[in-house]
Amino acid sequence: MGYATTNPFTGDVEKTFETATTEQIEAAITLADQAFQTWRDKPVAERVQVLQKAADLLRADVRGFASMLTKEMGKLIGEAEAEVNLCIGMLEYYVANAEEQLAPRTLPAKGFDQGDVVIHHEPLGVLYAVEPWNFPFYQVIRIGAPQFSAGNSIVLKHASNVPQSSLAMEKLFRDAGAPEGLLVNVFASHEAAEQILSDPRVRGVALTGSEGAGASVAATAAKHLTKSTLELGGADAFIVLDDAEVDKAVKWAVFGRHWNAGQVCCSSKRVIVVDGVYDDFLAKYRQGVAELVAGDPMAEETTLAPLSSQAAADDLAKLVEQAREEGCTVEEVGDPVPEQGAFFQPTIITDIPEGSKTSQQEFFGPVSQIYRAKDADDAVRIANASPFGLGGSVFTTDEEEGRALARRLDTGMVYINQPTGVKADIPFGGTKRSGYGRELVDLGLLEFVNDKVVVVS
Ligand code: NAP
Repeated sequence: MGYATTNPFTGDVEKTFETATTEQIEAAITLADQAFQTWRDKPVAERVQVLQKAADLLRADVRGFASMLTKEMGKLIGEAEAEVNLCIGMLEYYVANAEEQLAPRTLPAKGFDQGDVVIHHEPLGVLYAVEPWNFPFYQVIRIGAPQFSAGNSIVLKHASNVPQSSLAMEKLFRDAGAPEGLLVNVFASHEAAEQILSDPRVRGVALTGSEGAGASVAATAAKHLTKSTLELGGADAFIVLDDAEVDKAVKWAVFGRHWNAGQVCCSSKRVIVVDGVYDDFLAKYRQGVAELVAGDPMAEETTLAPLSSQAAADDLAKLVEQAREEGCTVEEVGDPVPEQGAFFQPTIITDIPEGSKTSQQEFFGPVSQIYRAKDADDAVRIANASPFGLGGSVFTTDEEEGRALARRLDTGMVYINQPTGVKADIPFGGTKRSGYGRELVDLGLLEFVNDKVVVVS
């Protein structure tokens, strides 16, 4: 398995890289550990200066960084710019908040009237970050900004189709004044997880990706008693109740399902519409999807990007074929997408049998599943029938009902009257087969620290 940049729009293989040897991986861990040994002792206020400088460097060249994303994984240039701006937001969130969130906490423990009980959040060491290609910069900053604030260093294994984005992230922190080794890129094979996680200097692993990758890496981590967090796939429910503003719900559902060409863990993959507004919603949704414009992701007028690779498009086609075989109604929507590039024809799937494989799987691309629910209770039942539990949304004009229904969804996040968001200052993560642990805000910051208790009596 090699690392390569293959432009998903042109199909050109632009650059290839050799997979790391065991010696290179050993050197990467050593470098990251050396960085940790000095970084751990720096005050938080000093650590976050590097984050601020990284944010400044991104801000100075949003278009340049964004173009790299579009070239490597095909996302629309406007969405790539939004990703770079989101990275700036995450970095500056920790510049503003990390010191307070990492401050020692005194506990009001009984029997210590004269002394005290204090929790200190101490860094652990080198972390292994395994990341996917769908948000090549965001994924690295989402783990890097909090963990560098906390005092840890990172060995990064990025997805094999975004090697240049990975190198750009390594360079970003070097240019921002981080000690050599704070973020070290390795073009590691899957098998390298064993070498890396068996090394006692590596104290945790954060993986974002598919269930298979998560299960494999977490098993290796468990074998070596190493902590893991997993941000895995999702099949978010987008519930439309009968009092919802249908036009608004349609607009957000089309966006929620098709941004990043539908390759978002928390995109609105299962739209569940209550009977009273189902027909109206479906007609308008079909129209909204038909209006998407597939084309060059660098062109401002394009609204539907190619998938990240032809292999991704082929895999998605197999899932759609399976849906047909299971008796679903499968409808291709809109003008035919371009033949050149890894495009996928927007597709709407309805009449999905309960318990079918289609109802249980994640479709990573512009394919919408639409379910008809009898009422709100039925919508909750359908939503919770998924093995995934990442995010979800509820569309209603009754805010109280929305809040109450949100509490009944078995997911890590629920957004009312908008699709599940990806924000700098709101935590991210799921439950069930969407993984465990949280990223961002103080929850993410404290995932890889030793909460050391010091008791003085
Ligand atoms: P993937 O194949 O699991 O790849 C993700 C990363 O894991 C890549 O770096 C990949 O390396 C690596 N990897 C895969 N199998 C591995 C193994 N057995 N051992 C060690 N490393 C392994 O995921 P994908 O299909 O490209 O990405 C999409 C998935 O990620 C979707 O399920 C999506 O929902 C999920 N995702 C979740 C979140 C979240 O925050 N919850 C965010 C984004 C994406 P190679 O590239 O070298 O194979």
